[in-house]
Amino acid sequence: MNMTITTVTGNISPEQLGPTLMHEHVFVQYGGPSSPYSTPGEVFDELVASCTVAIDQMKRYGVRTVVDPTTVDLGRNIPLLVALSTTTSFQIICATGIYSTAVYRRMRDRSGGPAAIADLFVRELTQGIDGSGVRAGIIKVATGAQRITDDERELLEVAAHTAYVTGAPVITHTEGMHGEEQQRILISGGVSPERIIIGHSCLSRDFNYHRRIIEAGSYLAFDRFGMPDMPDEVRVASLHALIAAGFTSRLVVSHDSVWHWVDGPVMGTGAYRNWKPTNFFERIIPMLQYCGVHDADITALLVDNPRRFFSSTHSGGNFSPIV
Ligand SMILES: [Zn+2]
Repeated sequence: MNMTITTVTGNISPEQLGPTLMHEHVFVQYGGPSSPYSTPGEVFDELVASCTVAIDQMKRYGVRTVVDPTTVDLGRNIPLLVALSTTTSFQIICATGIYSTAVYRRMRDRSGGPAAIADLFVRELTQGIDGSGVRAGIIKVATGAQRITDDERELLEVAAHTAYVTGAPVITHTEGMHGEEQQRILISGGVSPERIIIGHSCLSRDFNYHRRIIEAGSYLAFDRFGMPDMPDEVRVASLHALIAAGFTSRLVVSHDSVWHWVDGPVMGTGAYRNWKPTNFFERIIPMLQYCGVHDADITALLVDNPRRFFSSTHSGGNFSPIV
């Protein structure tokens, strides 16, 4: 049973979650974080200050929690997350997982196979990350635009095994496709469908694809509001169609923003001007209201659904080890 939620500063109850953005990145650096960004000093202090501005802006809209699904190979920066959460009292849930299959292959082959990677994920969820005592609260896994590769499938099975053993929930990256296959692999590995969020589902405009994933019991994340890969009006139309069809309770929202991306785009500027963690409140809620979406539905997206997702349980126990 897993009724407590693990944040970077400790456990909270589902009621403490509050308005939650389900997919934002505090910091990204491929292969990082490099030392100036993750150890005390001027660069680190500047990073804390700039990320605190983003948190203060979210707080003005009532946001209490973000899920940061940055994996180890994307620069998951535990000292930064802890410093921010401690100084701002803002809740951050961090992830275990591996994003790149090339990194997965390397780590797997070095460590002795998929079971060793599962052990690492379990340790990060139950004991702590890199000896910090900070535990991950969710498992992140990804697939690309081509068909799901053998390595991606294997990593999904590792994630499923980890979820089954620990009871931790799973959040995925998709390119707006293959969400159903992700769901099937995770469920056949013993994960309850209601412990799965199929990420970046707003990249698909296919109502029936969305409907099938929801009807099989999982959540869809409309989690790229403001990203210039698609007009927000298109995401809103898809989201509205699902709400109008009665599927509100299986939808969560976010921006996939990156508050500091080393050698990456700067959020809130140029083509990325709407890509920031307040976009949902500033632009998307008014669009939804214009479509006739009620306040209770918006509250469901931000509060009720994250709380239910993190509160649900699935039975662990008699798992078979990965061979
Ligand atoms: Zn992301």
